[in-house]
Amino acid sequence: MSQPSLHPAIDHGIKPGNPSFAGGKLQCLCPDNKVEVQIASQVAHNHMCGCTKCWKPKGALFAQVAVVSRDKVKVTAHAEKLAAVDANAVIKRYACKGCGVHMYGRIDNEKHPFYGLDFVHTELSPDSGWAPPEFAAFVSSAIEGGAKPADMAAIRRTLKEKGLEPYDCLSPTLMDAIATHAAKASGVLH
Ligand SMILES: [Zn+2]
Ligand SMILES: [Zn+2]
Repeated sequence: MSQPSLHPAIDHGIKPGNPSFAGGKLQCLCPDNKVEVQIASQVAHNHMCGCTKCWKPKGALFAQVAVVSRDKVKVTAHAEKLAAVDANAVIKRYACKGCGVHMYGRIDNEKHPFYGLDFVHTELSPDSGWAPPEFAAFVSSAIEGGAKPADMAAIRRTLKEKGLEPYDCLSPTLMDAIATHAAKASGVLH
């Protein structure tokens, strides 16, 4: 049985990261006048995402998305080509108006549990050494992105085989971080 492409970064095996890697450049997919974003550190929590908001390469069922401290993210070329996909979204995803690729996502709400972290797609980088994906999030949402419900068991099995535990929300670590933030805000946790 032929499997649909989950994502080019994992279909043919996951490339290991380089522990001493300290960042690199992301480029949009325009043939010229590329938008460039410099990332001045390694990324964290890299994962596959099945949601319908994250940018995915053509034909892929999942996005690959990681976080990095927003002060490490700088647009270094063609900032004029960037615009927010949805200016009202919690995560404002800045996309290239030429090729549609999302260059980074940013949270403006200072009370959000992930405020201070930007969301980036390391596959847009010509540099190698980025931390590889560690898990798969919002897997059931892949159906909304076009996956056949009958293929979901095989998709989850493939993700597991690749060492990417499939979750239908975020990973327990990130869900705990969100709940901890909420518990502190409500006073339950001091
Ligand atoms: Zn572009
Ligand atoms: Zn997503």
